[in-house]
Amino acid sequence: MLIVMEPTATIEQTRAVCDVIKSLGFEPAPMPGEQRVAIGVVGNDRGFDDTRLRGLPGVAQVIHVSAPYKLVSREFRKRDTIIEVANGVRIGGADIVIMGGPCSVESEEQLMTTAEYVAKAGGTVLRGGAFKPRSSPYAFQGLGLEGLKLLAQARERYGLAIITEAMDLDGADVVAEYADIIQLGARNMQNTALLKHVGRIGKPVMLKRGMSATVKEWLLAAEYIANEGNLNIILCERGIRSFGDATRNVMDVGAIAAVKLMTHLPVIADPSHATGRRDLVLPVARASIAVGADGLIIETHPDPNCALSDGPQALFPDQFNDLVESARMTAATLGRPLAVAGGRRSVATTV
Ligand code: PEP
Ligand code: MN
Repeated sequence: MLIVMEPTATIEQTRAVCDVIKSLGFEPAPMPGEQRVAIGVVGNDRGFDDTRLRGLPGVAQVIHVSAPYKLVSREFRKRDTIIEVANGVRIGGADIVIMGGPCSVESEEQLMTTAEYVAKAGGTVLRGGAFKPRSSPYAFQGLGLEGLKLLAQARERYGLAIITEAMDLDGADVVAEYADIIQLGARNMQNTALLKHVGRIGKPVMLKRGMSATVKEWLLAAEYIANEGNLNIILCERGIRSFGDATRNVMDVGAIAAVKLMTHLPVIADPSHATGRRDLVLPVARASIAVGADGLIIETHPDPNCALSDGPQALFPDQFNDLVESARMTAATLGRPLAVAGGRRSVATTV
């Protein structure tokens, strides 16, 4: 970190800044120039909170030389992080991972039917919300524990790994008992207590980007999890709020490409919540793979017109099949195969 002083800053003001740096446990390295003094901060190999420095008299600028999110940054780890889940599927390597399933777990029949065709089509991770963060308190809130039990049954029967959302601390403990990957939803991206809690649980976490979050805020949220010792983090771009009204949210495909350069963590794309329209899920899925996503999470339902949540974006079973085939072809142009359950080893792409 570099603190640039105003040209008019006094020696006392520069000294005061150095004292604050020392009080924070770091070493100040003042560098007098022709016009002004710059002060380097030595020894900040972990994140550094600059709020104490920004407002000090005589300070013109505080420049972060390295990313404020240390542990999840590419600087910290050059190689891609690969997360292996129970069925041997590796997320973040060369393979493209397809996650599919309903928005909400609604019944045994609905979930088993979905799990069967998801697995048959080439999906390797089953999604399904048991605890649902609905915009309206009158909307279906999920089956809770019963939903988790159904997911676990589907895993046994179809060899799929399970991903499902946790909305609070107690819920995260229960979800961790049943799921292979804990999903943190867009609405909870900055729930710092929950981030720290899943960091301590240690299980793989998929962190969705908040609907109004910058990429930096998203990576800092991931840093909360990492800072508790859990680097098994998967990022998920699910579209952001913008002025465009063609789609439910705006899929930030550029951010997928950017984030892959900024962090070593895997990035999954969610074209279902990004578009909100089943007719746009496939093209946006292809675009996401083309820009470097490590996989897709797709909502699908055996009977979307009767779905209790997110029906308009849920793919019909045959559309899910088409999507997987299309993803396979797009991925092949990049030399990336689709992941298969059973642990075929993929070669990590090292940057
Ligand atoms: C979901 O995955 O069903 C969901 C609620 O997603 P998000 O948190 O991205 O809105
Ligand atoms: Mn949904």
